[in-house]
Amino acid sequence: MVDLSGRVAVVTGAITGIGLATVVRLAECGASVVLSGREGEVAVKTAAGLPGRVTGTALDVTDPARTATVFRQVADEHGHLDIVVANAGVLDDALLGMIGHSSAERTLAVNVIGTLNTVQAAAKVMRRQRHGSIVTLSSVVGERGNAGQTVYAASKAAVASMTRTAAKELGTHGIRVNAVAPGLIRTAMTEHLPDHVVDTRLANTPLERWGTAEEVARTICFLASDEASFVTGQVLGVDGGMIV
Ligand code: NAD
Repeated sequence: MVDLSGRVAVVTGAITGIGLATVVRLAECGASVVLSGREGEVAVKTAAGLPGRVTGTALDVTDPARTATVFRQVADEHGHLDIVVANAGVLDDALLGMIGHSSAERTLAVNVIGTLNTVQAAAKVMRRQRHGSIVTLSSVVGERGNAGQTVYAASKAAVASMTRTAAKELGTHGIRVNAVAPGLIRTAMTEHLPDHVVDTRLANTPLERWGTAEEVARTICFLASDEASFVTGQVLGVDGGMIV
């Protein structure tokens, strides 16, 4: 387990799935963690039920002003903000001819603009303290594409590209920016996938199984930690080999 004692972290979209598992893991590693989610009351209640130094707050990442306020308040309260995990995301599968514009706009608003808001607000705080680690959530489909996921795949390719670019801009300020690119992970986002889609994905996964939110969380914590002190601008697959 990596040592994150004394570190302060914020995770977005952390009420469920990979975000929640990341909060739990960061806290187990010794960090003080802010569990943020769209529904403030649920975030506060969920955080209160977790072991370690975890608090909850309302944060819709499509709201840039609120995102900036939350990160500034956390930094003011603790004296620093060391780790930000831009995890919030949505998935709305549809074949090309069936994609509705409101669905496409929402996916891009959360996955691309929401991640941009998060990286921007994190960078603003971290530049002043001249250190920090940001981890974003891309996806194997951002690299490979996938039938029925045109908009989602495009959004995750944008996240990967944004991550590499931000790493180039922010390295000089002592800030590392990396992404994880999960494969098929069992969470609320994937529970409604049709059997034939799951079967195809598993057939393309050398490890022949679903991944868990905890496995992604462990990789995020590694990238966030000093164990990855010379790692930046990387998009690291956590996909059972699906990308190979
Ligand atoms: P999930 O649905 O459990 O988590 C997504 C979270 O984002 C939810 O808690 C949701 O409430 C939150 N969210 C959505 N819109 C938001 C907004 N505007 N502001 C704040 N929070 C918002 O699914 P998950 O699998 O845990 O997904 C986490 C991340 O991992 C996502 O970015 C997803 O695209 C990515 N990912 C997941 C998989 C997978 O197989 N599960 C694969 C690759 C990438």
